[in-house]
Amino acid sequence: MANQTLGLEKHLHDYLLSISVREPEILTQLRQETSQHPQSRMQIAPEQGQFMAMLVQLMGAKKTLDVGVFTGYSSLVVALALPADGKVVACDVSEEYTAIARRYWQLAGVANKIDLHIAPALSTLDNLLESGQAGTFDFAFIDADKTSYDGYYERSLELLRPGGLIAIDNVFLSGQVADTQVQDNRVKTMRNFNQKLHQDHRVTLSLMPIADGLTLALKRS
Ligand code: CA
Repeated sequence: MANQTLGLEKHLHDYLLSISVREPEILTQLRQETSQHPQSRMQIAPEQGQFMAMLVQLMGAKKTLDVGVFTGYSSLVVALALPADGKVVACDVSEEYTAIARRYWQLAGVANKIDLHIAPALSTLDNLLESGQAGTFDFAFIDADKTSYDGYYERSLELLRPGGLIAIDNVFLSGQVADTQVQDNRVKTMRNFNQKLHQDHRVTLSLMPIADGLTLALKRS
């Protein structure tokens, strides 16, 4: 979905990028390579990546989840922001996409911080819970198949410590969530998910209108 912030006119978006984004060269290279990929819309926006890196730093996060790796930008931007003993548990089903990711993690010198699990993410998250890791994660980024968002959210919430943060991508679905003409299942599922979070008092909530909409859910004690 959208790999730049929606709703900003191009000249203002260009200005935002020019005076805010300080993207490390390795991330720029990865983004350029990914832009040639047929699924390039799954790439997150650089201003979003930088924002997520700041969140991770603000929290002093050490242990994070990345649900939906694609070519590895989100895992990499977080890994670069983590301390030397930080860890990203990265989940994806595609060997093909994550081959690109692993190459860039190596080049960036952070491959040792990222544990990649090639499997359906729901299974990986269940395994983490079964191995006693509930309440041990600081941060989770959810950006995989939208129909499983609720399953990713519930498991991530359990895996987070109180005060941990979940960032959920594409909650606008390119604006379709607010378009009553659009009634397909994918959009309905996202509307229901957004509605559920609005009512969910286990978390403190904020929806950032960055990129394609990024919901932040802070786990309450
Ligand atoms: Ca996304």
